[in-house]
Amino acid sequence: MITRMSSLFLRTLREDPADAEVPSHKLLVRAGYVRRVAPGGYSWLPLGLRVLRRIEDIVRDEMNGIGAQEIQFPALLPREPYEATGRWTEYGDSLFRLKDRKGLDYLLGPTHEELFALTAKSELSSYKDYPVILYQIQTKYRDEARPRAGILRGREFLMKDSYSFDLSDEGLERSYQLHRDAYVRIFDRLGLKYVIVKATSGAMGGSASEEFLAEAPTGEDTYVRSTESGFAANVEAVVTPAPPAQSTEDKPAAQAHPTPDTPTIETLVAFLNDSSLNTKADLGRTFTAADTLKNVLLKVRRPGDEEWQLLAVGLPGDREVDQKRLEASLEPAEVAMLEEADFAANPFLVKGYIGPKALQDNGVRYLVDPRVVTGTAWVTGADKVDHHVVDLVCGRDFTPDGTIEAAEVREGDPSPDGKGTLVAARGIEIGHVFQLGRKYADAFELDALDENSKLVRITMGSYGVGVSRLVAVIAEQSHDEHGLVWPREVAPFDVTVVIAGKSDEQIAAAEKIADELDSAGVRVLLDDRKASPGVKFADAELVGVPTILVVGRGLANGVVEVKDRRSGEREEIAVDGVVGHLT
Ligand code: ATP
Ligand code: MG
Ligand code: MG
Ligand code: MG
Repeated sequence: MITRMSSLFLRTLREDPADAEVPSHKLLVRAGYVRRVAPGGYSWLPLGLRVLRRIEDIVRDEMNGIGAQEIQFPALLPREPYEATGRWTEYGDSLFRLKDRKGLDYLLGPTHEELFALTAKSELSSYKDYPVILYQIQTKYRDEARPRAGILRGREFLMKDSYSFDLSDEGLERSYQLHRDAYVRIFDRLGLKYVIVKATSGAMGGSASEEFLAEAPTGEDTYVRSTESGFAANVEAVVTPAPPAQSTEDKPAAQAHPTPDTPTIETLVAFLNDSSLNTKADLGRTFTAADTLKNVLLKVRRPGDEEWQLLAVGLPGDREVDQKRLEASLEPAEVAMLEEADFAANPFLVKGYIGPKALQDNGVRYLVDPRVVTGTAWVTGADKVDHHVVDLVCGRDFTPDGTIEAAEVREGDPSPDGKGTLVAARGIEIGHVFQLGRKYADAFELDALDENSKLVRITMGSYGVGVSRLVAVIAEQSHDEHGLVWPREVAPFDVTVVIAGKSDEQIAAAEKIADELDSAGVRVLLDDRKASPGVKFADAELVGVPTILVVGRGLANGVVEVKDRRSGEREEIAVDGVVGHLT
């Protein structure tokens, strides 16, 4: 059926939404694909839902292709299975927990290992039942600390999660490889540029976990790859043994990557260490003597983040924060941020005196909270003399107790496999394949009887694809200054037919072409609105359907214009031949 713009539930916007920073967020909102309902909560409008469904279909197709069977669990789950594996608590603040009217605990599923393991246990019992792969495409809930960039990091999002159940380690290796190959096919079909990186240390086996990262400068993941070998790893994954526990005094300060223009954490620490905070400190820009800073407020946000995260607040010289004095020196938005900050729940948040003592005790660690190791910090002074931008760059992750978890990796370092040197880049996680082993099978005693009626413990894998995130990731990689540029595989329509003029001939010709294309199985969006050609062209570009067919003045000479949205190339095609040309 032809979709008519005149009746399509669509309103495009000329302006970027105020809260949007990354291109996909701006364009998906402007082009009327999604609308924000809450932080990290978006509704899908007709165009967006079409793209989402097409991606879902590709994922489903490839999952069915490896023999995976689709099932569906509720998102609302009882506490007990998650209690059994310890994840009710381990998940921390990211888990949405709730109570029913009887006071019983529930959660909204962030991922479903427990439920799949329990289902395998209740339905399967013999070695003949294995191996098996089950999957669902289902809404997940995570109370992300920083929902960002529209649907890129939602608090409610669509994930394909699958789980493999095998009798042996070799079986698990096979199931893992099947998924890895299926993911390669999925992301290739989606036309994405991506890398596959090691996601864990290797302590659990060579390829125990890998991530698929879409290449994007706006991505939150940093990975390194070798210039010569195929080595590629998320920087989080390059692990060295933790050094013996150290006393607070000789705990190493965070190592930053000094570059001429990037102030280091040390310089920031040095600045904060100066209890008077009256002196010059080099934070990329030099403080002047006029900078009589009476308080410090550190907020951090990574490139592309929607919201600032509070890192530390304090008043030099004060043991307790004088709330009034602090607030008097802050912007309203910053005061709101203070009010919202949950100091009790966030061990990384310092409120109080920021000076040598606080830094010695814990400040250094706060500054290298792994969640905020890169980003931009603002040091706000009471006098509002200036905002000082500090890029915090750390290659070294610290656990909350201060031990070093990951080695510092930096560009130019030798690759761990000894071949070539490392280069770093950013990416967005689109998929994750993971050999879980027997953790969940142990928790639920998931066994099968083998040929000799002996119990064999099952080994599991879990595999995720961020289906809704993919809509944004594709948009991130595929757009230009005029709007979205969808790959054909996922585009909401194949052709936009634009009626450029008002004449009856043009309308009739466009309707006929649209009908014939539709009959030939082409998905047509017909712009039959009573709007100016300029508005129609702009919307056609913004919406990003791969082919734009314009029925305009050329019709008098028997031609219509066919434009390729991606290349911008236009050609005139005889009106009689255009359907054949496009099918
Ligand atoms: P991230 O590192 O981006 O937080 P994750 O490692 O927590 O992702 P997984 O638990 O591996 O995510 O989930 C599988 C997939 O689900 C991820 O690879 C990603 O594509 C997607 N995903 C995870 N969190 C979100 C989210 N908040 N919004 C949208 N998609 C998400
Ligand atoms: Mg996450
Ligand atoms: Mg991740
Ligand atoms: Mg992951």
